[in-house]
Amino acid sequence: MNRHQRQIQFPGLGEKGQAKLAQASVVLVGCGGLGSTLAECMVRTGVARLTIIDPDVADITNLHRQFLFDEEDVRKKVLKAIAAAEKLKRADSRVDVVGIAARLSVSNADALLSGHDLVLDGTDNMETRHVINDWCVKNGIPWIYGAVAGASGMILVILPGKGPCLRCLYPDSETNDEITAETIGMVNTAPAFVALLQATEALKLLTGSPALIRKLRVIDLWTGDDDLVGVAKNPQCPCCGEKHSL
Ligand SMILES: [Zn+2]
Repeated sequence: MNRHQRQIQFPGLGEKGQAKLAQASVVLVGCGGLGSTLAECMVRTGVARLTIIDPDVADITNLHRQFLFDEEDVRKKVLKAIAAAEKLKRADSRVDVVGIAARLSVSNADALLSGHDLVLDGTDNMETRHVINDWCVKNGIPWIYGAVAGASGMILVILPGKGPCLRCLYPDSETNDEITAETIGMVNTAPAFVALLQATEALKLLTGSPALIRKLRVIDLWTGDDDLVGVAKNPQCPCCGEKHSL
C-alpha cells in the first residue's frame, strides 16, 4: 500500500493532487506552537521538500503546546529547527527536510525563502510576518498567515496579485503584538488547531483546489465562534498598493 493511500482516496485530492504535493517545496518560518504542527502535517502529507527556519531552542514552557518537542530537547538545549528536522525525517525519510537555525530578516529573506512554492507562517510577531509578506508580494509567492493567543486565532491565505496582503490588514508592525502567549497565555489545543487550518489551506493551494478559503478565518475554541471575514485589498497599502513604498 502507498502510505498516502487514504489521502489519495479523498476526492478533493486524488492521484493528481498527490502528484502535485510530491513536487512541492515548502518553507516554514517559526517552529513553535503553530510551526511544529505545520511541519508535521507537511512532511506526513508527502511534500518533496520542507525547510524549517527557527532561531530558538526549546524551553520547558513550550512543551505543553509544541507537540514536536520533549524534555530531552529542553535538557540538551537543541535548536528547534534542527530537532524538528531530525524527528520528521523519521516520519518520512523520503521528504527532504532541512532545519535552519536562523531568524528571518529583510537581509536574509532572499537566501532563506527563494526556491520554495509556499511560505507558511509559524511566527509569533508582526515584524517577522511583515518580512514574509513583503518578500512574498515582491516575488509573487503565496503564503499563509496564522496567529494564535489564548484560545483563539486566525488565518489568511495571501496570494500576491490576486487579493489583499497582510499590510492591507495590518500596515504597522506593532499591530496586535501585545496579544501573545506571554501576555494572555495559551490553551494547548489552540495553536495546533490554527496550524491544522493553515495546513489544510496549504494542501488546497499546493494542489490547485478551488475550495481554497480566501477570507480571514477567525476562530475561538473557548466560545465556539468561527467566522469568515472578507478582507479587501487596500489601494493605499504600503506593500501592494498602487503607490507602494516598500
Ligand atoms: Zn497590501
